[in-house]
Amino acid sequence: MAAEPHSLNNESMAFRSALDVVRGVEPRIAEAIGAELADQRESLKLIASENYASPAVLLTMGNWFSDKYAEGTIGRRFYAGCRNVDTVESLGAEHARELFGARHAYLQPHSGIDANLVAFWAVLSQRVESPALERAGVRQVGELTEEDWAVLRRDLGGQRMLGMSLDAGGHLTHGFRPNISGKMFEQRSYGTDPETGLLDYDAVRAAAREFRPLILIAGYSAYPRKVNFRIMREIADEVGATLMVDMAHFAGLVAGKVFTGDFDPVPHAQIVTTTTHKSLRGPRGGMVLCDDDLAPHVDRGCPMVLGGPLPHVMAAKAVALAEARQPAFADYAQRVVDNARALGEGLMRRGARLVTGGTDNHLVLLDVTGYGLTGRQAEAALLDAGIVTNRNSVPRDPNGAWYTSGIRLGTPALTTRGLDTAGMDQVADLIHTVLDSTSPGTTRDGKPSKANYVLADGVAERVAGRSAELLAKHPLYPGVDLG
Ligand code: PLP
Repeated sequence: MAAEPHSLNNESMAFRSALDVVRGVEPRIAEAIGAELADQRESLKLIASENYASPAVLLTMGNWFSDKYAEGTIGRRFYAGCRNVDTVESLGAEHARELFGARHAYLQPHSGIDANLVAFWAVLSQRVESPALERAGVRQVGELTEEDWAVLRRDLGGQRMLGMSLDAGGHLTHGFRPNISGKMFEQRSYGTDPETGLLDYDAVRAAAREFRPLILIAGYSAYPRKVNFRIMREIADEVGATLMVDMAHFAGLVAGKVFTGDFDPVPHAQIVTTTTHKSLRGPRGGMVLCDDDLAPHVDRGCPMVLGGPLPHVMAAKAVALAEARQPAFADYAQRVVDNARALGEGLMRRGARLVTGGTDNHLVLLDVTGYGLTGRQAEAALLDAGIVTNRNSVPRDPNGAWYTSGIRLGTPALTTRGLDTAGMDQVADLIHTVLDSTSPGTTRDGKPSKANYVLADGVAERVAGRSAELLAKHPLYPGVDLG
């Protein structure tokens, strides 16, 4: 029975009131917001890059900070009246520095791609632009002669970056041609060992020696193992590169002290970027951490590649970072990893093949060719049963980047819901049941299809029923009742 309004808790009252206000202007949007919560509550979410932010984080984003322009940095803005934005940005930066043990934190990037752009241009500013200004005896680019400016622009565009290949788990923003980073930098990639699927540091070293990049970038979206950042820094130092780590995916594991020592990027890299909405469980956004030398260059992210910051999102980042400093977050991060291991082992016990044969982070990469399927077929069949995943290339993928041969599965979201290792074993069973009951389909003219598939009758319904039972034991936002 629905609770009476007077007995509602704060969270329910807050979200109900907000939706009532929205409903008064555009009821269809209020309805869509409510429907999204219902969908999220009902789906078994295994998207490795998604999570569920806390009600405090969500509520922090809907307020008057959204109206404020605050270009510049803390205490040094191009707009008047930024006192409260300064408070928010300084608190967020302080939480980030404390949490990650970083010298400097920059909270303004609107997303992960923006954080990476800020980092690339900070390194270019430090290592290409500043020396050019010094040589010319001027302080700003505006003071350069047309000739010197033309040379600098050519030099800025002629730099090299070495990053992980896409099919080994790297990210498009690490110098690949469809992304602006690939148009800015001459890029080369390092892959993984063909036998083990593991990062081969000797091969990275050899590629770095030969290519001599300005930036060596480490970090991934679909590599299921730890990376040794001490070794990556040694390689970078040897060839005079700046080590940049994009920890967008595993920032929560660094924050929660699961990745420490050689596996914590912050003490080793000169610059670290992240998103705040994946394993870190904050609002959608980005962040840059760096050493003292790079700090003034990073702080020029706006106007270099960013417009005005989003103060309401920076406020929510500050709240999420405060949450991540609580002991409960370390416990959460450990459970994310334990759950990924349990999911991987559960799948392997049922005969599935995982890239690298396991995981030591928050994700597993399931090679679905053993089921006779492409990633696209597996993703669609799983979705029919209410299991939300995404297809992903595997190293040297025979099916290419569109159809792929893999499914990426991550545990941050289900761990936030409270699932434990026994629950993850049940999830493994649900996934295996669907894939084992799916066969590749044919095109209309009877040829083998990489997209069409046939899921045996009744399986989707049975799995969806079992999944609903499991999720009912772990309600999402239990304190939020929209009525
Ligand atoms: N870097 C990595 C490693 C990512 O996985 C992603 C997103 O998937 C990004 C950057 C980009 O983040 P955003 O979508 O917030 O721009």
